[in-house]
Order: sequence, then C-alpha cells, then structure tokens
Amino acid sequence: MQLYNTLGQTKQEFVPHEQGRVKMYTCGPTVYHYAHIGNLRTYIMEDVLEKQLRFIGYDVTRAMNITDVGHLSSDGDTGEDKMLAGAKREHKTVLEIAKFYTDAFFDDCDKLNIKRPDIIEPATGCIDSFIEMISVLLDKGYAYVAGGNVYFDTSKLDCYYVFGNQNEEDLAVGVRESVEEDVNKRNKADFVLWFTKSKFEDQELKWDSPWGSGYPGWHIECSAISIKNLGEYLDIHCGGVDNAFPHHTNEIAQSEAYLGHPWCKYWFHVLHLNDARGKMSKSKGGFLTVSLLEEKGYNPLVYRMFCLQSHYRKPLTFSFESLDNTAKAYGKLINRISSLSESGEVSSERCKPYIDSFNEAMNNDLNTAQAITVLYDVLKAELNDAEKRYVIGELDKVLSLSLLDGADESGAQDGGEDAEIEALIEKRAKARKERDWATADAIRDELNARNIIVEDTPQGIKWRRA
Ligand code: AMP
Ligand code: ZN
Repeated sequence: MQLYNTLGQTKQEFVPHEQGRVKMYTCGPTVYHYAHIGNLRTYIMEDVLEKQLRFIGYDVTRAMNITDVGHLSSDGDTGEDKMLAGAKREHKTVLEIAKFYTDAFFDDCDKLNIKRPDIIEPATGCIDSFIEMISVLLDKGYAYVAGGNVYFDTSKLDCYYVFGNQNEEDLAVGVRESVEEDVNKRNKADFVLWFTKSKFEDQELKWDSPWGSGYPGWHIECSAISIKNLGEYLDIHCGGVDNAFPHHTNEIAQSEAYLGHPWCKYWFHVLHLNDARGKMSKSKGGFLTVSLLEEKGYNPLVYRMFCLQSHYRKPLTFSFESLDNTAKAYGKLINRISSLSESGEVSSERCKPYIDSFNEAMNNDLNTAQAITVLYDVLKAELNDAEKRYVIGELDKVLSLSLLDGADESGAQDGGEDAEIEALIEKRAKARKERDWATADAIRDELNARNIIVEDTPQGIKWRRA
C-alpha cells in the first residue's frame, strides 16, 4: 500500500516493522462535548484505513486514548482545562462529563459503522505510566522542573520540528494568541509534562507525583498509552491535521527521548472539515453533530459516504446541499442493490477483477472516491446477481456503508428516508411516463405532506426538503 507520510511529506510504500502485523494508534476524543462531524470525518477515514489494512491481510492492533484530563483550551500549555470548563458549563463533575461524552462518542461511532479500536484507554486510568515516563525523561536530562511544573527541554533534540513545516516564529505564543508566555520555559518550544502550578488552580482531578500533587500535560498521554499497549515500535499514528503540531511533534520528541530510538514510522493526518465559518471546532460552538443530522432526517451513513467521496488529504467543505446530493446517490445505490436477486453461482475468478480495482484505488493513498466508483462498475458488470452481491459485500467490509444490510431489509427503510423518497420519485416518474396522472399526483401530495418539494424539470424530477 502507498500512503502519504507526514514524516517526510511524501507518498511511501507502507512496510510495517513486523511482517504481516500493524500497530496503529489513534488520538481519541477530548470528551468535554459531543464530537462534531468534523472530528468524525477524521475517525471515519482512520476506520477506513484500519479496515483496508485488514482487508489486504494485515493483523492490525489499534489503540486509542480518551482525553479526560490535561487538554487545555489552547493546544499549547495555556488556558483552562477543557474538561473542567465542560464540567462547569453543565454543573457536573469532570468524571460525569467524561463518561457521558465518551458514551455519546461511541454511540456516534456505532451509527457511522466506525469499529471500536482493540484497546481504549482513558488518560485518567494511566497516570502511573505518565509518571514513569516523565521520571525517565528527567533522569535522562530531557526534562527539567521549573516553577513547580515539569517541562520537556526541546533544545536537547537534534531536530524538534520533525514534520519540517513549523518554525520558531510560529511558536511566538505571546504574539499569536495574545497570552503571556510561560516564564518558566527555557525555550519557547518547551512543553509541560506535569503541572503542579497553573493559573487555573481549581483543577478538579489531581494525583500525587514525585513533583507534587498535580496533573499531566496533554501530550504525554498518547506517547505513554501507545508505548504501554503497542510497544516500542509503532507502525502508524493517526489524527486530524491540527494534531500534527504541536501535539504529534511533542509526542515524537518525548517518545524518542524516552525510548532512545525512532518510534513511529508513518504519520497519517486527515484534513479538516470546514463549514461556512471555516474549520469546524468544538470551542467555536454551533457545530453539527450526528444527532442533529438524524433529527433532520439523514441516515448517518449518508455522512459516511459524503466523507468517502472525497480524499482525506483535501479539506472538505460541508453544506446541506452537498449532503442532499450524497443522500440521493446513497438512496439510489441502496435501491439498486436491493433489487439484486440471490440467484446465480459465485465464481471468484469473475469477481476478482473488481476486488482488484477496489484494492488498487484504496492502496493508492486511500483513494476512497475512486473505490466508490468500483461499486457502480460492479452494478453495471456482466456478473450474475449473486456475484454482484458477493463483490459488494466484500467491498463493504472496508466502506462500511451497510450496502447489503440495507438492501436485505428491503432497502427503502434501511437506506434511510432518502432511499424511501427516491423510491417514491421513481414510482412517480414511471406513473407520469404511463400518463397515470392520478398516481403521479397522489405521490407528489404524499411527498409534499412530508415537506418534500418535488419539481418536474426537463432533466427529470428533482426534489428537496422544504
Ligand atoms: P478532539 O476531540 O478535539 O481532541 O479531536 C478529536 C479528533 O478530531 C482529532 O484527531 C482532531 O485532530 C480531529 N479534528 C478536530 N477538528 C476537526 C475538523 N474540523 N475536521 C476534521 N478533524 C478534526
Ligand atoms: Zn494524541
């Protein structure tokens, strides 16, 4: 498989450390609010990557953290703890907030057919591992204590900016974010490993440590959780592109200083989902969630397909108009698949070229849009219905669009409201062709009653929600 590696900024052949096995790590959610559909774009694309690796025969072990402590309102070391702010907002404890939004996150993942990682570790469950790692970094001279906090000393590294696209200037925190710089830091790029002192003294969760009662910095959790569960050599680390700096850069700094050798071979970053206001973000508020899409009548899998239709390394702009187009395409696809019968013998030789084309697209830096076109090729192919169902079932192991499940239960309902609407529109088109105006009008009235506007245009029947 060819994958773009942020480390080196080129497409590279994916070769894991151990033949046939892949160790994969994903930065998990910060559970102080619902995940928005931007966060979920990242998790969908990571899910597709994991499933494709499995599809081509790798034995994958994937770990993910849940950030329930330490992520401050800036991605650096300033600001209030996001979890604490969430707890205050909802008049709950930090742990209550964490449990509620962790469950909500996995509910969203289930709705989007995102598989759970094999290992899931909340940061608050791994404090001992963080303390052990920080102690080693201090012993090795990569960390120092100042003003009550423990800092990582970036000047001890030959190369800190490993992704090559950041520089000291970008780190002029005081200038960029109009917050005071931390006077304890020896170098601008240094970052906190353990806090005992902060401007925000009301931290709810604190633990004893050799440096006093306090709490971990955000970056240490992913390094420690990854090394604890996946060992000293990681094959692939994933996250949204905003995590590349400073979070992943800091993870690499501290992991390699701790281990004394290179740590992770491939860095997979998903570009952002934007809306009219720019990058969708939890802190800006007014973001879109899976529940909101459902309330508006969309099947969550329509959003999954929307993400798969574009490349993970391109920013994606969300609009309801584009989602409607995907909803229609998804509905039609489900209807076409549901009309396939079970009949025919399956010849794997006849099916193979389609699976090969799919793999060719996916193994080319996860070209999911191209992979989806293979589905349409299969539907048009000279294969019998059983073969078409077989190939679609295979491809759906990776795409996870419930293509056959929807079809099995007579498509319309399971393909979501849109599939049902598409079916009615098709029925109406047929009635019009047969000059059966009574049926055509009855269908239009039924759709209008459901707030669906139907327009007869020279290009055919179009519909939209009122
Ligand atoms: P968070 O819950 O804020 O820690 O973020 C969870 C994941 O979502 C991380 O991998 C982020 O990089 C990613 N992410 C955040 N915002 C976006 C966005 N607008 N589009 C895509 N991914 C995002
Ligand atoms: Zn992380």
